[in-house]
Amino acid sequence: MTDFDYDLVIIGAGPAGLTAGIYAARARMNVLLLEKAVPGGQIIVTDWIENYPGFPEGISGFDLAEKMILQAEEMGLKIETAGVHSLNLDKDKKEVVLADRTISTKSLIIASGASPKKLGIGEDRYMGKGISFCATCDAPFFKDKTVVAIGGGDTAVQESIYLTKFVKKVFLLHRRDQLRAAKILQERAFASDKIEILWDTVATGVEGLFGIEGVHVRNVKTGEEKTLKADGCFIWVGTLPNAEFLGDDIITDEYGFIRTDGRMETNIPGVYAAGDIRDTPLRQVSTAVGDGAIATLAAEHYIENL
Ligand code: NAP
Repeated sequence: MTDFDYDLVIIGAGPAGLTAGIYAARARMNVLLLEKAVPGGQIIVTDWIENYPGFPEGISGFDLAEKMILQAEEMGLKIETAGVHSLNLDKDKKEVVLADRTISTKSLIIASGASPKKLGIGEDRYMGKGISFCATCDAPFFKDKTVVAIGGGDTAVQESIYLTKFVKKVFLLHRRDQLRAAKILQERAFASDKIEILWDTVATGVEGLFGIEGVHVRNVKTGEEKTLKADGCFIWVGTLPNAEFLGDDIITDEYGFIRTDGRMETNIPGVYAAGDIRDTPLRQVSTAVGDGAIATLAAEHYIENL
């Protein structure tokens, strides 16, 4: 049989990839985890996580990520900082192309996660100058100011509640007349006297010379347009898969999330996907962790039968 550099390569060090790595290291697989940025994934910018079992008081996303990384490293998992350029995949050969070398592996778990979706209302121009995707990072810059938050899902509502610790007022814009977020979050948002929800409303642009001074909005039912005076604009309208290196061989859904079976296997034998990059009905830390564990077990079985 051909020589391989690794039994398993994992791409992405969020909760899915770290869990996959912990299981692989415990199984004494020859495993490498690649992470292009800071290990931890999206939870490192999540203020507070209260639905991950084992932490009855809740835990900050940063602290949870730190614990997962520590556990993985103590288990002997090797984590390398490297971005994946592309993949060469077929039934017998799996290659991961990095900037400085190409590595071969018997099996592969893609756990590269997802990133915030943009609306095209000036994100590139105003990033760091009033537009943000991260309340944990930027909320303190808006102390006693007015901000606009956009979205109706868990992220928009949870992070808007977090913003109220700092800001004077949050206009929460949602394009429909009902929030998508969990009921408990909705109850908290409705109870906050700092959050004003603007229903059926979308943002059409922002204005300001050096930073944000106003957000242009339109009511989708009445067509009414106006400008909200605001110093910041937080955008939480969902996520897109981090799939730029994937190529055309792996089957995805229409948005680019990877399709898998119940064992997390993609259309290519020995190639698995786990966590937010997967075409999954729920994107949570708990589901990512489960995906990672299942993917490693499946990869182990796959290798045994090679
Ligand atoms: P999401 O659930 O996909 O919600 C995105 C929101 O943005 C939806 O309300 C959507 O409106 C709105 N939206 C999408 N495109 C838009 C556009 N072009 N213009 C205006 N509004 C737009 O995304 P998310 O809130 O980031 O959550 C992602 C995943 O992480 C979910 O599975 C969520 O449960 C999970 N999460 C969980 C927690 C928690 O459990 N505490 C916290 C954060 C995230 P519609 O409702 O009309 O589609």
